[in-house]
Order: sequence, then structure tokens, then C-alpha cells
Amino acid sequence: MSECIFCKIINKEIPSQVIFEDEHVLAFKDINPVAPVHLLVVPKKHRESLNDIDVTDEAWLGHILIVAKKLAQELGIADSGYRVVNNCGDDGGQVVKHLHFHVIGGQPLGVKIC
Ligand code: IMP
Repeated sequence: MSECIFCKIINKEIPSQVIFEDEHVLAFKDINPVAPVHLLVVPKKHRESLNDIDVTDEAWLGHILIVAKKLAQELGIADSGYRVVNNCGDDGGQVVKHLHFHVIGGQPLGVKIC
């Protein structure tokens, strides 16, 4: 059995506030939100980080961005703007080692580093 916390959320072994689910993706509320809207969009297939994807992952990887945009629209943050963030690896600040994309918005977002 996987020790990965996001795999456990995907498998419903631990609870989460699910916003969207389909065969490839789960989107749920971040447990420690940094803005009024803070979702995590996560592939159901376990990949540790962006470093672990290859060309066979193209379809669901593109799908994740489509889902992120759709959820931003549904949650009413698309027009004012939002960020989709991926932290990759230790220097990138990645804590949970299951690939995920933060969708953050609902207020002006502070510091930009790029
Ligand atoms: P990272 O720093 O990019 O790896 O982001 C990991 C995110 O996962 C953080 O924003 C955490 O607040 C979030 N997180 C960790 N555990 C849980 C959980 O059990 N449910 C929802 N979000 C979580």
C-alpha cells in the first residue's frame, strides 16, 4: 500500500474536500490555504514530480491545465486572475512528493518571483 499522502487522498483512505474528479485527475482544497481559493489538482497516476513525467504522460498532463482553468471559471476567479503553481523538487519548495498543481486566487496575490 502506498505511503504517499496524495495517493491516500485519491484512494479515499484519508478525507479531503473534493472539488472535481474524473478518471485522470482529483482536485481538492488545500488543507492550509494561502488565499480564498487554493486547490490542488493532482494526477491519479503517481508521479513524484515534473522530473518523472515523459511523453506518455502528455495527455493527462495537458488535461490538468484544462481542469485548472475550468475550476477557476467555476469558482469565479478566472476573470480577476489566478496562479497555477508547480513546485518541483527541494529547491523548488516541493513538500509532498506526488506531482500537483496549486490553483490559487480570490485576492491579489503578493510576491512574484517570476
Ligand atoms: P508543495 O509545497 O508544493 O509540495 O505543496 C503541498 C501542499 O499540500 C501544501 O500546500 C499543503 O498545505 C498541502 N497538503 C498537505 N497535506 C494535505 C492534505 O492532507 N490535504 C490537503 N492538502 C494538503
